[in-house]
Amino acid sequence: MIDPASFESAFLPTVPDDEAFWFPFRGPQLLLKSTGGKGASPLRRDEFLSLGLEVIRAQYIGALNGVGCVAAELQKDAPEVTGHQYLDLRRAFFALDPSEFAAAGLAFQIQYWDKNHRFCGGCGGPLALKQTERAKRCDPCDRDFYPPVVPAMIVRVVRGDHILMTRQSRFPKGMYGLVAGFLEPGETLEECVAREVLEETGVRVHNVRYFGSQPWPFPHQIMIGFVADYLSGDIVVDTSELEEAAWFNRSEMPMLPPPISLARRLIDDFLNAD
Ligand SMILES: [Zn+2]
Repeated sequence: MIDPASFESAFLPTVPDDEAFWFPFRGPQLLLKSTGGKGASPLRRDEFLSLGLEVIRAQYIGALNGVGCVAAELQKDAPEVTGHQYLDLRRAFFALDPSEFAAAGLAFQIQYWDKNHRFCGGCGGPLALKQTERAKRCDPCDRDFYPPVVPAMIVRVVRGDHILMTRQSRFPKGMYGLVAGFLEPGETLEECVAREVLEETGVRVHNVRYFGSQPWPFPHQIMIGFVADYLSGDIVVDTSELEEAAWFNRSEMPMLPPPISLARRLIDDFLNAD
């Protein structure tokens, strides 16, 4: 179960100089302290500053178990550091606990936005961070710009005692997930679910209902989970998106996505139902 309750997003206009967790990114890689056991943990401010790495941009993002958190952007060629590791954010998903990952994910989104949204889309002039909220401002255009969040759907399609599962080529060998895809302009979420299932697998669904959601910082999605019932059609895989799609009986499941993911929560909910 995902419990991000111990991380709370919050805004401050400046980076505080008291003890805090720092989440420094070199491109998509998060700098963490190497530990035994689970492998890695977030850095405290003093530990991070003692490394002497150059910080390009930094922002306060909230508090983890009451301790402030800071998102930071490092040089893209920042050096390796003894006793530490740069971990791709997707791998940090496995190394950190859920509240740490919630903080790391937001840290990535905020520094990514800060780095990639520096100029006004209207006039091309430089944007300034606002002092009152997490946003950037162009005074000449009188416009505010907020960190983007892109909605993506994920769906468990049920057909009696089977669910529709899919494999992307980048998945670990043997692992299957669920149909997922991005919302298009003008669509309802339910229409998006039905379209993605049809496009990727050739199957028509109905009775689309909401299940739950999860921030997905790769780089700035929110995964919105649904359950839908099979209506008609045989599987025809869109091989430009998927390697394979198949119906799986609850007693013969393939390798499943990691427990922290919304995909796994959707699958476990099916497996645990009476
Ligand atoms: Zn402007």
